[in-house]
Amino acid sequence: MKLIVAQTAGFCMGVQRAVELAMAAPAEHINPIYTFGPLIHNPQVLDVLKSKGVTVIEKIPEQGTGTMMIRAHGVTPHVKAQIRKAGFKIIDATCPRVTKVHTIITRYANQGCATIIWGEADHPEVIGLLGCTGKKGFVADTIDQLNTLPSFENAIIVAQTTQNMRAYAEVKNWVNQERPHYKIFNTICDSTAKRQDEVKQLALEVDAVIVVGGYNSGNTKRLAEIVKESGKSALHIETAGELNAEILKDAQSIGISAGASTPDWIIDQIYETLKNGIA
Ligand code: SF4
Repeated sequence: MKLIVAQTAGFCMGVQRAVELAMAAPAEHINPIYTFGPLIHNPQVLDVLKSKGVTVIEKIPEQGTGTMMIRAHGVTPHVKAQIRKAGFKIIDATCPRVTKVHTIITRYANQGCATIIWGEADHPEVIGLLGCTGKKGFVADTIDQLNTLPSFENAIIVAQTTQNMRAYAEVKNWVNQERPHYKIFNTICDSTAKRQDEVKQLALEVDAVIVVGGYNSGNTKRLAEIVKESGKSALHIETAGELNAEILKDAQSIGISAGASTPDWIIDQIYETLKNGIA
C-alpha cells in the first residue's frame, strides 16, 4: 500500500509555542500551573500535560494562586483582566496570528464599526474575538446567516483563523454583491491555508485520506470536509487504535493529514500501523 504523509500534518506554529510554554511552565513559573480551558483540542496531549502538573481550569475563581496559561485561541480582554484580578500570574500563549485579529477588530470597533466574525459561535477563539467588538459583534457561518444580519452602515468581516478558505471565498463574493461598503479581512492563518491546500491536492493523488486530530478540533474537521468535497473518502480518527481494516480495504493508496493540534508521535504511530498492516 502506498502511503503519503502531508508535509503540513501536525502542530502549527501557535500550538507548538503553546505546548512548549506549558511543558516548561512547572519548572519556570509559580506553581500550581493551570490552563484556562484545554490548552489545545487534543486529549492525548492534554493527558501528557496533566502528568507534568499542568491542569485545566474551566472557571476563574474570585481568588487564586499560581500561574494561569491563556491558550493559543486567546481570550476576551475581560477574561484576561479577571485572571489578573484573581491573583494569578499570566502566561499568554495566544497565537500571534489570533492576536493580530484581536488588533484589527479593536481598531475598527473603536471607530464604531460593527464586526462580523465568520466562524463557529461556540469556539473559544471566536468567543475571544467577540470580546473585542465593543458589543457590536455578530457571528455567522452560513451565507443565510449573513443575509439575516442587519445592513450596517460600517462593518468589517474577519474569519476565525482556521476557517475553510473555499467557504470564505464565497463570503468575499457575498460582500462584493450584497455589502460592497463592508471591509473584509483575510484572517485565515497561513498555516491553515497551506494545510488545506495540501490536503486538497493529496486527495487527488490517493484513494482515501486519514485525517488525524481531536474530534472537537474544528480545523481537523474542516480538513476532512475538504477531502469529502473532492469526492474521496476521509477517515477522521484520533489515534492509531481506531484504524479499521474494513474501511480501508479497497484503498491502494492512502494519504495522512492531521490537524494543527495533533502531535507528531500520534501521526508516526498511524503511519507505522498502516505500514505494518492493520491487525
Ligand atoms: S492554526 Fe494558525 S492561528 Fe491557530 S494557533 Fe495555529 S498558527 Fe495560530
